[in-house]
Amino acid sequence: MNIDLKELEVWFVVGSQDLYGEETLKQVAAHAEEIAHYLNDQTLIPVTVKYKPIVKNTDEIYATLTAANSTANCIGIITWMHTFSPAKMWIRGLKALQKPLLHLHTQYNRDIPWSGIDMDFMNLNQSAHGDREFGHIVSRLKIGRKVVTGHWQDAEVLQRINVWCRAAAGWHDWQGAKFARFGDNMRYVAVTDGDKVEAETQFGFSVNTYAVGDLVEVINASTADEINALLAEYEANYELADNVKAGAEFHDNLVEAAKIEVGLRKFLKQGNFKGFTDTFEDLHGMVQLPGLAVQRLMAEGYGFAGEGDWKTPALVRACKVMGAGMAGTTAFMEDYTYHFDPQNAMVLGSHMLEVDPALAVGKPRIEVHPLGIGGKADPARLVFNGQSGDALNASLVDMGTHFRLIVNKVLGVEVQAELPKLPVARVLWKPLPDMKTGCSAWILAGGAHHTAYSLCLTPEYLQDFARMAGIEYVLIDEDTTVAKLENQLKWNDLYYLLAK
Ligand code: MN
Repeated sequence: MNIDLKELEVWFVVGSQDLYGEETLKQVAAHAEEIAHYLNDQTLIPVTVKYKPIVKNTDEIYATLTAANSTANCIGIITWMHTFSPAKMWIRGLKALQKPLLHLHTQYNRDIPWSGIDMDFMNLNQSAHGDREFGHIVSRLKIGRKVVTGHWQDAEVLQRINVWCRAAAGWHDWQGAKFARFGDNMRYVAVTDGDKVEAETQFGFSVNTYAVGDLVEVINASTADEINALLAEYEANYELADNVKAGAEFHDNLVEAAKIEVGLRKFLKQGNFKGFTDTFEDLHGMVQLPGLAVQRLMAEGYGFAGEGDWKTPALVRACKVMGAGMAGTTAFMEDYTYHFDPQNAMVLGSHMLEVDPALAVGKPRIEVHPLGIGGKADPARLVFNGQSGDALNASLVDMGTHFRLIVNKVLGVEVQAELPKLPVARVLWKPLPDMKTGCSAWILAGGAHHTAYSLCLTPEYLQDFARMAGIEYVLIDEDTTVAKLENQLKWNDLYYLLAK
């Protein structure tokens, strides 16, 4: 599953007005084109930035913004008012705009030419007031957008644009996306459930159920050649525990795992799914709970979460798109167990089987162990230690009145201890601002035990993404206090109730 962000376009739309006259407007257009090309040429910016002819009146603005709506690979627009563009001209276009918006508050000249500045320079370089006029109407229309201020060659400005482009790519990927659900929600579990109709309305992706029996049929149709090709791939890429090697006690379990992977991948490809969920309570006809197969499919770019959780696969998938080509990855994760040592408190994250091997330090090892849940044969899984570094956990929850995206900045910790009896992959992290505050804040915010754990994204990506989705964003970081957070949650609840 290759994710090529360069196929996606962001349109650079520069506003002005007819009264400036031909000469000035020519310069505005030349500058706009130069900046668009500059942005497009940055390796940091992963999408194509496309120059659009400058817009000078209500009709041109409406035509350009509605063309953005109907261009399939246009994922958003960047606007800039080089000169003054009276903002009533923007109302009709902005009301029609359905793509994410970034307002780049910049200026062609970085510096004021102190000794040479004259009225021509002043008239040409007017974004200081032109962008304020534009910003006013966007605020008045209550349209969510990112505002980035600074010179267009400034490294921080470019990074903030990059973040927004990637968030827009994740958002674009959700539109029309399909997620498959094998079996229903794990019985009685609250946080993994939710309103799929509302999700489709707000987020653009659909979640539909598929019978496990239909999946089993595809799995059982796997050919010996397909299975053997995968077994060879396992041997080439992973260390194999002695008892799963050819001829050993659990080799047949590994063959079964390969068969499941062949079928599951085929099913997902045929249905054009971007992610899936299953549940150990509904595996009729399956020999094992899929472990190894799920792990490898996640590493390929599919979103996944266990127990019928359909929101986390969507979030994991969006994060994988946002982080395409970046160092580090985003993975499905679960807060599993705690180390409450006051000097060194941390969380151990894992899952029954399904931890994304894109997180692995070194070569993962294939092992087969009994699984005390689900009542199926002993499943194969990849066992490894997770990478360390600056990271975050993100959780998308349905609060009944609205969706909430909760993000906690964490520090991923290197796994140093030997864990000879733990038969699953494991990751360690320390929540910010500290263990007690971070965990209390997460629980007060209603965050799930299932998350997207990211070693490549910063909270800014998720904040931009939440704004595009029009949902609540709650950040728990070094500045969080429980008292402030409790109040924020109350105010937000009121806002989302009123905004309905
Ligand atoms: Mn779980």
